[in-house]
Amino acid sequence: MAEQRGGCGEGGGTEKPEATSLKTLAAVASESQRRMRTDSSTMPIVGEIPKHGAAASPGIAIGRAYVVDRRKIKVPKRHVNAEETEIEVARFRAAIAESDAQLERIKNKLVAREGEDHFHILEAHQLMLHDEHVVDETIRRIREDHINAEWALRRTVEQIKHIFDAIQDDYFRERRSDIDFVGDRILRNLLGEEEGPVTPPPDAVVVAHDLSPGDTSQLHRHAVAALVTDAGGKTSHTAIIARAHEIPAVVGLEDVTSVVGNGDLIIVDGGAGLVIVNPEAATVAHYRARARREAAIGEALLANRDLPAETIDGHRVSLLANVDVVEELDGAKQHGAEGVGLFRTEFLYLTKLDVPTEDEHYQYARSVVEQLAGRVATFRTFDLGGDKVPAASPALVREANPALGLRSIRISLSSAGRPLFLQQLRGLLRASAHGPLRIMFPMVSGVAEIREAKAAVEECKEELRARGEPFDPAVKIGIMIEMPSVALIADMVAPEVDFFSIGTNDLIQYTLAIDRVNEHVSYLYKPLHPAILRIIRYVAEAGREHRVPVAMCGEMAGDPLFALILVGLGLEELSMNAVAIPVVKSVVRASTFEEAQRLADQALTLATPDEIEELVRGHMAKRFPEDVLK
Ligand code: PEP
Ligand code: MG
Repeated sequence: MAEQRGGCGEGGGTEKPEATSLKTLAAVASESQRRMRTDSSTMPIVGEIPKHGAAASPGIAIGRAYVVDRRKIKVPKRHVNAEETEIEVARFRAAIAESDAQLERIKNKLVAREGEDHFHILEAHQLMLHDEHVVDETIRRIREDHINAEWALRRTVEQIKHIFDAIQDDYFRERRSDIDFVGDRILRNLLGEEEGPVTPPPDAVVVAHDLSPGDTSQLHRHAVAALVTDAGGKTSHTAIIARAHEIPAVVGLEDVTSVVGNGDLIIVDGGAGLVIVNPEAATVAHYRARARREAAIGEALLANRDLPAETIDGHRVSLLANVDVVEELDGAKQHGAEGVGLFRTEFLYLTKLDVPTEDEHYQYARSVVEQLAGRVATFRTFDLGGDKVPAASPALVREANPALGLRSIRISLSSAGRPLFLQQLRGLLRASAHGPLRIMFPMVSGVAEIREAKAAVEECKEELRARGEPFDPAVKIGIMIEMPSVALIADMVAPEVDFFSIGTNDLIQYTLAIDRVNEHVSYLYKPLHPAILRIIRYVAEAGREHRVPVAMCGEMAGDPLFALILVGLGLEELSMNAVAIPVVKSVVRASTFEEAQRLADQALTLATPDEIEELVRGHMAKRFPEDVLK
């Protein structure tokens, strides 16, 4: 590194400065990649094909590949004369009607078989079918460009995808596949092609370029072992539905379909985002043993589902689930979630091309509250903007620093975003009449924003009163602590709210100045940085003084390694991916509060993240088996 630094600063001796700085950059990049690789829990494999993708749904599976071939449909392109345009328009409208009827049939089948699971995704696809951006644009192209319906539709779909492409956030960018699925369905109907169902044998590892929500939601019924796709990320539908049904899945492998043949043996390690094609016997044996061990631990841990998360000396904490879509609620309850500590409502804005109405918010939130049957549901108001702009947004602004830009509560309080905010608040308030519901504001920077957001809530309550709509007048209002600015005045903020929830994903990003989606600096993303621990303790203490409960809902809360120190720092509620609840609970139940406090106090005396990690790992390793902490 010293040599590289010299080269960069002083022109690097005989080499041209430009070349040297490029070399330095490359070295920095490969260093960060090396660190990433060292951190990953994968094992070296010889003579096999290991492939890394996004860890979409945890669990280990070993099975034979079932390759699903959903080849891109060939689009016939033809210019048409003036008389033919109306025939093309009529064909297009008929194809939409047929697509709608097909989706309705799938939806009804699913509802009859398994309740409302996945219903909303299919419903969103139905809404997309009739969206003006799809329908009017395609008809306009047929008429103005004098082209056939298939060609006009393909152009429309490409344009909509282009808008999604401009969005940097994975979660939002993946909505491109929704418009693809909808476009392909209309195309097939225009061409009179049938899309046959995917029917893999039980225990198959399904390998596909991408899977439609319809495909994915049917697959778990075939008892498949795992899902593996070229496309997608952690928030693609395949990933979400796989997590909801606890099917191990790795997505975003880019070209896995080009190296896997039907019947190939495949190992899928969903937690590590690893797929091994044609593994050797020793690798299979290793993973079989791991799978057996994990299954046994999982079973044993689930036994604590109905027991409280209470330490040996009687200190009680609450363990809740983070949820993105309603389909995840069953899994949350099965893992013993005491409620939902973070419901990310962004998904509602992404599965359609226009913004959800008050009534859609109401119906959606009401169904969540009813399914939770008395357990609390914490709805975070939309965390949109910056790099998270839904297709329906009139203002697709490109910002130099999206993470620091016009986003989240800033949009909600802006004149353009306020109507959407009020719409959502009214919907949530109405749902509060059906069961315990909390409203949480994201990305808050200080007291003025909180007061403004609360005034909006009051305005909505007034309107609902005037309309005679019922709601819970004492609905709890809280904020996410995601910025140092609000954390450092937690004592002044506490009297303004009913609860705090620390969002470590962003808090770490803003405190340590590390872009959370930039893999080159991810090695610096340290939850155990002393600055982060000090902030957590400070917020927990301010909350306790003002009797404001303090939760954590960032990823840090769901890592069993951190469970003890977080309890020791004074957090009362931890909200996490539901599958982590049993293991975190087992750590809490096997410890004393005094031990947790001692660990936290000791950690706060250390100056570097590595020293703290060594302390925490050392302590936890002595107390818990390796498999629990993995
Ligand atoms: C967080 O920032 O910790 C958080 C939970 O919010 P999100 O990950 O949705 O930004
Ligand atoms: Mg956040």
